[in-house]
Amino acid sequence: MRTTHPFDDDHLREECAIFGIYGSGDAAAHAALGLHALQHRGQEAAGIVATGNGQFHAHRELGLVGDIFGEENVIKQLEGTMAIGHTRYSTTGRPNLRNVQPLFADLEFGGFAVAHNGNLTNAVSIREELVCRGCIFQSTTDTEIIIHLMATSSGTVIDRMVDALRQVDGAYSIVAVAEECVIGCRDPHGVRPLVLGRLGDAYLLASESCAFDIVGAVYVRDIDPGEMVVLNGEGVHSHRPFPPAPKRFCIFEYIYFSRPDSVIEGLSVYQARKRIGGELAREAPVDADLVVPVPDSGVPSAIGYAHETSLPYEMGIIRNHYVGRTFIEPSSEIRHLGVKLKHNANRAHIEGKRVVLVDDSIVRGTTSSKIVEMVRDAGAKEVHMRISSPPTTHSCFYGVDTPEREQLLASKLDIKGMRELIGCDSLAFISMDGLYRAMGVEGRDPSAPAFCDACFSGDYPIRLTDLDDGATGRQLSLLAEIA
Ligand code: SF4
Repeated sequence: MRTTHPFDDDHLREECAIFGIYGSGDAAAHAALGLHALQHRGQEAAGIVATGNGQFHAHRELGLVGDIFGEENVIKQLEGTMAIGHTRYSTTGRPNLRNVQPLFADLEFGGFAVAHNGNLTNAVSIREELVCRGCIFQSTTDTEIIIHLMATSSGTVIDRMVDALRQVDGAYSIVAVAEECVIGCRDPHGVRPLVLGRLGDAYLLASESCAFDIVGAVYVRDIDPGEMVVLNGEGVHSHRPFPPAPKRFCIFEYIYFSRPDSVIEGLSVYQARKRIGGELAREAPVDADLVVPVPDSGVPSAIGYAHETSLPYEMGIIRNHYVGRTFIEPSSEIRHLGVKLKHNANRAHIEGKRVVLVDDSIVRGTTSSKIVEMVRDAGAKEVHMRISSPPTTHSCFYGVDTPEREQLLASKLDIKGMRELIGCDSLAFISMDGLYRAMGVEGRDPSAPAFCDACFSGDYPIRLTDLDDGATGRQLSLLAEIA
């Protein structure tokens, strides 16, 4: 689906983070700090729009949040007591500034800016209709559709936003700012996260609660699926403008995307990962000497696995945290170094040992085979891989960067075939029921699963209108083919 850079560590990638704040004298600074805490959800570009006196100020750039908003002057120019922000990740060729959010427009009722995490699955169809009606698009994001739908609607900003969102399919968590309020909204299935926080008299919205900790705010609650909240001078107003729908929160947020220090719906992400590791150990124990995580994402589940089996836990692989943008377009001379730029085996701890290697997922399998080889080269006697998600067999169309289905290893091979390709002595994934049990649900009810698990099950909770219409097989969030 997307091209990935040569040092991609074979994970699915969350594409965006959002943040919003109402009623702060330092709204833009708080937004920048919040986005910094959410940097793991998107490293390509970031933007903030601030307002408070009818004037809107925007700054959007390619790069990391700290680099963009680290300059005091940049923040100073973003005056106002309200702000929204966004970080973005994408791998479609060269990044494009016009797609960096928040998007801003002057509408009939005044200024309006919006930022979105997710993917609208009927974006191509709606865009074609809007273009036929004379709308001129400034970006190639699906998010801009919301602005055009609002521009062609009527009533208050809330009326228009509800009208626009009723016309779109897909997964979305949205923050928006108008002249007198900040708005937050989750799609009716609540696929992507959005949480509400408080800092003194100010209210905040963020993709994850870790963004509140950094500014000293407290987590209040999750925004409910299908809920729209309006933050203004009178506090927080909750609206339920959509027909009720089954809740289908993305289970991969607990497995990998969210930061371990975030809390989602009262459950600590770190705790959830440890529980998944424990469940995995009960389902797939192995005679071994020690448990080693593939850092960083495999760490909490490896701790859970080690705890359940009473095996020693060691950092048998060390991660270099400074690999990043420097190598996005590497020369062919260094490309062959591949995985070793990011991970190195800690020989002193694994030589002569039977190692249980715990990772969160296998996407293409490219990194797993190299890590197994590296651990063997460092002297491990046996390498047993344990994966804290079920096999990833399907692409995500709800705001996560995913390879096309045929590139997903588990869509082509059974466990035996994957084990042979990766080169480990044994391979096991947590079962779907085991994963649900770790989430505190008594197994997966196929007629009403408690989560979105489509990348493991192919059971897509929201219709894929554009895909079904044959518009494109690509995820549509960036509409790159239209660019
Ligand atoms: Fe999350 Fe997978 Fe559903 Fe995408 S398909 S929203 S990654 S569970």
